Amino acid sequence: MKILVINCGSSSLKYQVLEMETETLLCKGFVERIGLDGSVLKHEKADMEPVVLQAPMNDHKEAIAHVMDAVVDPEHGVASSMKEIGAVGHRVVHAGEKYAWSVLLTDDVIHALEDCVSLAPLHNPPNLLGIAACRELMPTTPMVGVFDTAFHQSMPEEYYIYAIPYEYYTKYGVRRYGFHGTSHRYVSERAAAMLGKEIADTKVITCHLGNGASITAIDGGKVLDTSMGFTPLEGLVMGTRCGDIDPAIIDFISQKEDLTIREVNDILNKKSGVLGISGVSSDFRDIEAAAAKGNARAALALKVYANKVKFYIGGYMAELNGADAIVFTAGLGENGVLMRNMICKDLTNLGILLSPERNEIRGREAVLSADDSPVSILLIPTNEELMIAKDTYKIVSE
Ligand code: ADP
Repeated sequence: MKILVINCGSSSLKYQVLEMETETLLCKGFVERIGLDGSVLKHEKADMEPVVLQAPMNDHKEAIAHVMDAVVDPEHGVASSMKEIGAVGHRVVHAGEKYAWSVLLTDDVIHALEDCVSLAPLHNPPNLLGIAACRELMPTTPMVGVFDTAFHQSMPEEYYIYAIPYEYYTKYGVRRYGFHGTSHRYVSERAAAMLGKEIADTKVITCHLGNGASITAIDGGKVLDTSMGFTPLEGLVMGTRCGDIDPAIIDFISQKEDLTIREVNDILNKKSGVLGISGVSSDFRDIEAAAAKGNARAALALKVYANKVKFYIGGYMAELNGADAIVFTAGLGENGVLMRNMICKDLTNLGILLSPERNEIRGREAVLSADDSPVSILLIPTNEELMIAKDTYKIVSE
């Protein structure tokens, strides 16, 4: 069966088609500038040069219609008709406490996801637009929702309750939800396979270090704790997000700079993190290059970032009472040789010993720890699309 995976943003959309019998990627692509001038679709069939289509795409429905044309195109398509697409898997950011697993998207489920919009006002609306457009264009094709928050629903309440008046949880659902769940689940399952263990017998700490970054403590395949919270702003230092800060800073800055709380919130999301510290960029390649040329603030940003990851690894080692493996994934986790070195430096008393030679690797599964390291350090490229396709295939095959 062929599965189409869709990940809709507000003005962009990513897609892949996978063949599930062999779990192979047939094609992938993305659309940018939906609803803006200069909409463009870039489509890539395996082993072929990418094709670029420029056409007006006023909304998600028009964009998805172009994706469908690309998928069935006689030259660079991968199906003779859309009837070959057995199901569509949609990435949805927030399912609140409603879904702890991927589900078939029925009217009831869609209403439940609409109820979660206030929890993810930037992310759930475009996800829902993509689902509505696909249902209109492919009315007989089953659709499955795969949620970023679902994996983290296994977290015990003593890890998700904030120390604020309890009624904010019962009245408004203010609690830790966690994000990047599909990625943390994928790499934790691969980690168990690499360790040659059943997932139920593993304790792993998964570091998803991309533009957004989060770290999760996973005990026997269930989340114990995760660093992102009520929103993706909490936890690690990120490209442009501040991560953990003293909440009193918000009122202080709002008064000093005469800004509303919303404006300060925007700064904490978009102008903070390593961009805010370095003043150089949110991209680690730029920051590393600047630091190498002697830019002190770029060097400081790298140190602050590494220290925060280290802090969480230590905390999660304590919460888990030891771990079998630390996993690095996502853009920086998969490619950041220098950053992995900085994070793992001086962790020997926790039994974490990086091999500098093995660490000189990017973008493919590898063991990075020294032979005598009690805790394995693993590099595992994430594959959220494969996870979405696998869940979708499983649900529609049941
Ligand atoms: P997203 O969250 O947008 O999916 P990615 O997982 O693609 O993000 O990660 C993007 C981050 O990965 C960027 O900050 C980028 O600097 C970092 N990155 C990618 N390649 C490298 C590299 N070779 N060295 C250091 N950092 C890298």
